[in-house]
This record gives sequence, C-alpha cells and structure tokens, in this order.
Amino acid sequence: MKPRRSDLPQGLAWFLMIFVLFPHTLSSPPVDRSETAEERSRADSAESPETREARERMVQEQIVARGIHDARVLEALRKVPRHRFVPPAIQPSAYNDSALPIGLGQTISQPYVVAFMTEALELKPQDRVLEIGTGSGYQAAVLSLLAREVYSMEIVERLGREAEARLKEMGYSNVRVRIGDGYRGWPEAAPFDAIIVTAAPPDVPPALVAQLRPGGRLVVPVGRYVQDLIRLRRTAKGLERESLLPVRFVPMVPAGERSPR
Ligand code: SAH
Repeated sequence: MKPRRSDLPQGLAWFLMIFVLFPHTLSSPPVDRSETAEERSRADSAESPETREARERMVQEQIVARGIHDARVLEALRKVPRHRFVPPAIQPSAYNDSALPIGLGQTISQPYVVAFMTEALELKPQDRVLEIGTGSGYQAAVLSLLAREVYSMEIVERLGREAEARLKEMGYSNVRVRIGDGYRGWPEAAPFDAIIVTAAPPDVPPALVAQLRPGGRLVVPVGRYVQDLIRLRRTAKGLERESLLPVRFVPMVPAGERSPR
C-alpha cells in the first residue's frame, strides 16, 4: 500500500507522508473543538477489534441466548466498554460470564444480570432513573444510554468519586453521582420513573417506594443470602409486586452503619 517514493514526484511523496503521519491536519479543521470533546475522549481510548468482538460475543452468548430481546438494552450493552470499569488486572476477564471484583470488597454484576435488570426497568428515552449502588459506574453508564437522566448513589465515598470521574471522562454526561445512604433515596430529585437497587436490602426500602412516580418501576434484590429480584410497579390500583429471578448481590449497608463522608 505504501507509495514507493522513487515512483512519485518528490512533492507528492512528502504530501503523502505527512498525510499518513498526521491525517487529522488535513481531514478535520480545528473548529468546534468543545463540541467534539465527547467523541475525542472516546476516540482517545480506541479499543482493539478483539475487545469489540469479546463484547459482541458477551451480548450474543450470555444475553441474547438467555432471552433478553429489548433492542435498546442490547445496543447499550454493545456500546459500553465494560473493561474500562474494572481494575487493570481484571480487564482480561471483563467480558466473562461472571461478576467481578472492583475493589473495597465490592463487585460489578454479571453482564446477564445487568441486562436482565435493565430490561426489567422498561426504560423510555425521556425517563429519569435512580440507581442505588454506583460501584464501578458500569450499570449507570448502561442506564445513561437508555434514559434522559441518571441519579446514582454510593455509600463508599472512594468508589463513588472514582466512578463519578470515570463516567465524566468517558462522556456519560447525563449521570449524577451522590455519596450517601441509598436507603434514603434522593428526595430532591424525586419522583423517578424507574429505580434500580444493585445491592441487596433485607426488605424493600420504603423511601424508595415513596420516590416512585405513578407508572414507575422499582427493581430490587431482596433477601439476606440468596435474594429474590423483585419488581414493584406503582399503578392506579396501588403497588404491583412481581418476583423475577433468584440473584446474589452484596448486602446493602444498613442506614447509619458506615459514614457516607
Ligand atoms: N452497580 C454497580 C455494582 C454495585 S455493587 C456497578 O455497575 O458496578 C453494590 C454497591 O452498592 C457497592 O458499591 C456498595 O458500596 C453499594 N452500597 C451498599 N450499600 C449501600 C447503601 N446503603 N447506599 C448506597 N450504596 C450502597
């Protein structure tokens, strides 16, 4: 493919060489830089075809094959680079069919569970969502592609701050992170169209039910060891409760047990 310089007039050879080395000098004029910050941040972390293939395999073999069909959910899982939400040493396993450690005794959920819970929220593009348990920020990133605004709460300050910085740097600009106790929810931003809890409380936290809009859905794993994934829906007739799937999450830290600051 490379032009052999001897075959070309010298001026043209230099032109081609500069183009090969600095293609952006010719292809993109330096205007509107601020508007392209998001694309640039994504481009800076350009991923290998192998990583993209691993993610596509994850979607096909772990998620589609197990019955998740919502096209928007599948698209979001194809887009979010899961490997960037786990510590470097864990990155080779980022697309495995399992939960993974993210430090401080916490885990990022198995891809199938992320997909299942996300589908169960029945998100519409204009929805406002509350997540309890920011962790790595991976679930928040998936939600951010499916809803208008995402509010995410984390009780472990260091995890929350790291996730907040990561989400911002990666361009997920419709996610807000707050350090605080998820049992209380985020009353200033309520009511929500959907609420997802990614740590397990022994019972459904009443404050979260109270922050659900009419028509809203709350998806939460309830129980102590093995939990039942529950969906509560606020309908005109009251609360509708469905049991969806047995799951295993880290326990939700009881209110007041660990200082949020
Ligand atoms: N959704 C995360 C994974 C969550 S792991 C992701 O995509 O990576 C569960 C998280 O819930 C942990 O980070 C834990 O610190 C947090 N957590 C536990 N109890 C909490 C509480 N009471 N309020 C807010 N966050 C809590």
